[in-house]
Amino acid sequence: MPELPEVQTVVDGLNLKVKNRKIKDVWTDYFSDSYIGKDNIKNKKYFQKFKKEIIGQKILKAERRAKNIIIHLSGGKYILIHLKMSGHLIYGDYIFDKKKNEWRSEKGYFDREEIKKNPKILEMIDREPTRDPFNKFIHFVLVFENGKQLVMSDLRKFGSVKLIDERGLKELKEKLGPEPFDLSPKEFVELVRKKGKGRAKNILMKPEFIAGIGNIYSDEILWEVGVHPESNLQNLPDEKLKEILRVAKKILKASIDIGGDSMSDFRNIEGRKGKYQAKHNAYKLEGTLCKKKDCDGILEKKMIGQRVGRWCPVHQKKIKNYDIIIK
Ligand SMILES: [Zn+2]
Repeated sequence: MPELPEVQTVVDGLNLKVKNRKIKDVWTDYFSDSYIGKDNIKNKKYFQKFKKEIIGQKILKAERRAKNIIIHLSGGKYILIHLKMSGHLIYGDYIFDKKKNEWRSEKGYFDREEIKKNPKILEMIDREPTRDPFNKFIHFVLVFENGKQLVMSDLRKFGSVKLIDERGLKELKEKLGPEPFDLSPKEFVELVRKKGKGRAKNILMKPEFIAGIGNIYSDEILWEVGVHPESNLQNLPDEKLKEILRVAKKILKASIDIGGDSMSDFRNIEGRKGKYQAKHNAYKLEGTLCKKKDCDGILEKKMIGQRVGRWCPVHQKKIKNYDIIIK
C-alpha cells in the first residue's frame, strides 16, 4: 500500500504535470453495488453529480495529508483520492476503446509473462513506462483540454475518489494524526506520552496517532533505531523517542528523494517505479542476515496486531527497563 513517500511522489508529480489544466471530461468503471447511497464515485448516482461539478474546472494544485491526495479545483471544491492497496496515477496519452468500454495507453502494454522470459523488455519499459503491465488497470480518468489524460490504475480496485468542500477538507485534516515532518522532538514525546500506549509497530501505523507511516516504513524505522516492534512505545525513554522521530523523518525523506517504494505495484506520474525497495533493511527480508554492522541476527517475521512485522531478534532485542513487550 502506498505510504507517505509514495503519496508525496504522486502529489509532486501532479503539481508538475496537471497544475492549471482544465478538466474536459471524466470517466470511471469503478461502480460497485456496495457503494449505493455513498459519497464515492463507485456509486453511479454520485458519479453523475461528481461529473457535473468538476467538468470545466481548472486544477489549481495538489496537496497531501497523510495518505490522501487532495486536488484543489478552481470552483472551490476538492477531489479527494485515496490510493488504498494498489492505486497510482499516471499522466499521458490514452485512448478509449468503445467496444471494450476501457481506456488504454496509446501504445498498449507489455505482457507480464513476456517480461519474465525476456529481460530486454524491462529496458523498453524504461523508455516507455506507460506500457508497464502494472499500469493497465485503469478505472478512473480525467480528460484535459490539451487532449491528455490523468488515469488511475488500480489492480485491486480498492481506491477511493470523491468530491469534498471546505468543511469536508477541514474535518479530514483534523481527524488525522500530525504529519511526521511537522512534529518537533518535544511534541513527539508529548504525543507518545498521551496516545502512544501499545506495540511500537502498531502505534506508528495508526493514522490517528501519526500520519502516513505504514507497514514498510514502520519496519524500517524500528530496525534502524533498534527497537523491537512489540515494545510498548510509551515505555521508551524520551531520548529514544526523539531518535525514532529523527530516523522516521530521515527514512521518509530518503524514500521521497528516490520516488518512493515499488516493491509492490506503485508507479509515479510517468508510470515509472520508485527505487526505495533496493534500500530495505527489514521489510520483506525475513530469513536473511541482518545488515546492521557487526550484527549476526537473522531477520524474523510474525503477526503483530493485524500486520506482519519483520525485525532482527539480535539488535532489536529487549533492553532493560524500557523494552516491556506487549503480547
Ligand atoms: Zn540486527
